[in-house]
Parts: sequence; C-alpha cells; structure tokens
Amino acid sequence: MPLIVQKYGGTSVADPDRMRAVAENVAFTRRHGNDVVVVVSAMGKATDNLIQLATQVSATRPGREMDMLLTTGERVSAALLTMALHDLGIDAVSFTGSQVGIITDTAHGKAKIVEVKGDRVRQALADGKVTVIAGFQGVSTAKEITTMGRGASDLTASALANALSADACEIYTDVTGVFSADPRIVPQARKLKRVSFDEMLEMAGAGSKVLALRSVEFARNHGVALHVRSSFTWEPGTWVMNLDETDEPGSAAVEDPIISGVVTDTTESKVTVLGVPDQPGVSAALFEPLAAANVNVDMIVQNTSTDGTTDISFTMPSADMAVAEEIVRRVAGEIGATGVTHDDDIAKVSLVGAGMKSSPGIAAKMFRTLADKGVNIEMISTSTIRISVVMARDDLELAARSLHTAFGLDSGADYAAPLPERR
Ligand code: ADP
Ligand code: ASP
Ligand code: MG
Repeated sequence: MPLIVQKYGGTSVADPDRMRAVAENVAFTRRHGNDVVVVVSAMGKATDNLIQLATQVSATRPGREMDMLLTTGERVSAALLTMALHDLGIDAVSFTGSQVGIITDTAHGKAKIVEVKGDRVRQALADGKVTVIAGFQGVSTAKEITTMGRGASDLTASALANALSADACEIYTDVTGVFSADPRIVPQARKLKRVSFDEMLEMAGAGSKVLALRSVEFARNHGVALHVRSSFTWEPGTWVMNLDETDEPGSAAVEDPIISGVVTDTTESKVTVLGVPDQPGVSAALFEPLAAANVNVDMIVQNTSTDGTTDISFTMPSADMAVAEEIVRRVAGEIGATGVTHDDDIAKVSLVGAGMKSSPGIAAKMFRTLADKGVNIEMISTSTIRISVVMARDDLELAARSLHTAFGLDSGADYAAPLPERR
C-alpha cells in the first residue's frame, strides 16, 4: 500500500473547523488505499503565544523548559486531529516526537536530528492505523525533550518520509504552492510548478518561510521530493525536487528563468559596532562568542578604516537580540570600540535563480531598479545563485514588487486564492 506523509501547518489546523477539514482530507487519503502518516504544527499562533507567556514569567527562559513548554502546542494538535479522525470512523493514534524515536542532539531550541527510529509508527501502520505525529520536536541523546527550530514541523515531515521510505511527502499550508515571491507581499507572484532543491535552499536560506531551511537541506540530502500545497483549496501545488527526476508528477512544464524568485525577510535586525580599532583579531573577538551562543550571524559589512578605526555592521535574527546584545556590548568594551547601535526596522530582499551563474549584470540591474525607486541599499551579500540587499523596512514592498516586475516575473494576475489571516 502506498505511504503518504502529510504535514499540516499552523493556519491549516488553527481552529476546530480547520481541524475537521484536515481530518476529512486525511480520511479521504486513507480511504483511497493509502497508509497515512500525518505531521501537525501547533494551532494558529499557539507557539507565539507560549513564547509570549514565557517572556512574561521569566527573563532567562532556560532552553530545557522552553522546549517542555513549546512542544505542548504540537501535542494539542496531534491529539485533537486524532479525535476528529476517530469521529470519521478512521482508526488513528497520536504520538509525540519522542514516542516515535526522533532522536536529536542536545541543543535546545535548535536541536539537530541524529536518528529517526520510527518503530512505533511502523507498528501502528502495520496495525492499520493512521498515525498523527506532533511536529517540531524530538528527544535528545540525553533523554530530554527538544525542539528543532521555528517551522521545524516541515523537518519532522521530511525526516519521517525518508525514514519510512514514503511514496509522497505533502506539505499542506495556507498558500497554493511555492511562488516567485511571497504572494502576501507581491500579489503578482507566479506559482512555480517545480523548484530545484538548490534554489529552494537559497530561497529558504534567504528567509522565505514557506519551507523551513533545515527541512529543505534534509530533503535534498536524502532525495525526498516535497509537494507544497494548500489545505484551503487542495489544488496541486509545487514540487520541490531534483530537477533531473523528470518522471515525477508536476514536471511536465520545465521553467528555466534566470531569476526564480524574489525573497523577503523581516525577521532580522542590524547591529553596528562603532569605532572598532583596525587591527588583527577584532572580528574573531566579536564573532566567536556570538557563534558559541548559537547566534546565526547573516551579513557582515566592515567599512574601510579612516583614522585607524572602522565600523562593523552585521545582521542576525531579531529573536536572538537579547542574547547577542549583551555579548556585543561586552566585547565592544574589551576591544576598545566606541559604541554599539542596533536597528530593528530593516528588511532583506534577495533575488534567487540558478541561471544567475551564467548571466552577468543581474546585480547591476537589481541596484539600478532599486535606485530608480529611491530605495537606499544598506548592505549587500551574494552567493553563486543569490543576491541579497538590506534596506529600511518601509521600502520592502516597493523594492520586492519593482524587482519582481523588472525581472519579468509578474504573472499578469493578482493572487486569486483566499489568503487566510495568520500570525
Ligand atoms: P505553515 O504554518 O503552513 O508552516 P508558514 O507561515 O510557515 O506556513 O509558510 C507559509 C507562508 O509562507 C505563506 O502564507 C506565505 O505568506 C509565506 N511565503 C513566503 N515566501 C513564499 C513563497 N515564495 N511562496 C509561497 N509562500 C511564501
Ligand atoms: N509550531 C512551531 C512554530 O511555530 C513549528 C511549526 O509550526 O512548524 O515554529
Ligand atoms: Mg512553516
């Protein structure tokens, strides 16, 4: 019997009606002769609300206790969906990540999978049950409950699909697929029929949250094709896959534009260390302790030194600012810098496309397009298939839309499916 893994995101299970709609689809899939493993996220804003609650009772928020707290969100969803399935006459059972043997390292909040055992899922499937698994979580090698980072239910799904050799891994969300830009920001965004793992990896790495970065890394490393689609319209979505797998569904129309997407990200802040003495070792002194504290520094810019001092700016997740700021202020004092500032009102806009490698002039055209719109570029970084720029948050929509138009990506019609309200 074919095995299908289906993952439902927070908006897809946000309330009892949505939960029942999802149960109907799972039941439909089961009744059409498939084994089904379901991975669920916490309902709607549940994770954000739990984080908010934690900030109200604690300034330190120890990682172990945060993981004990946050994993409850997914557990609620798994139990409720399983009950809804029972009401539809479907034999189903829910499990936590720990119960199904998703073994991780000990890095609370950002744990990495070291092994997926999956014995209880296999047993439940053999017993004819649909299995519903709480996403985003595992159990560490030290037997503690862990979470694997925001959005990591996507990772739970791809890891289980791989461990169970599933025939399909469907990622159900609140838009109809992966688009050339976030349709909430660029209404003219074009739905991609297929996108390569490499391009999806750059899009996710640049901050497109439609798929969590580590789920794409995992899927690419293990060759798990992902079908990103809507739990609101149920229409076929986008295949994220190796583009040489030409026999996969959805691969009929090969799209090969130079730019496949415009990615927007508002989750980062910019930190500037002013008046840093221009001498060997200062960057290491600054970035080593940030790395040790698990702060993911993204772009770094160091100005040329004038009077023996320089300014260093970098971007990093706003969510880690409290941890980072303490470190940066301490190090700035130690290395004799004159001050530290931070700016939360920034946005990053990136162009991603495999065709960029062989097409010179993409960066120049990007900068010209932004200049013509009066958008000031604060930082720039590139990879072989991506160019990212940082700008003021207020310029994000204008920048993303004008780049989308300039690179010929506009679909000719505004996004038509309903856009469910969300966090
Ligand atoms: P879920 O809760 O289902 O995991 P997410 O919020 O993590 O959903 O991801 C879906 C959202 O990703 C969409 O609502 C959309 O606003 C956003 N998004 C960002 N970039 C893209 C893109 N290129 N294509 C589609 N959606 C995108
Ligand atoms: N509930 C978690 C989050 O909000 C995990 C997920 O949705 O994938 O980040
Ligand atoms: Mg998500």
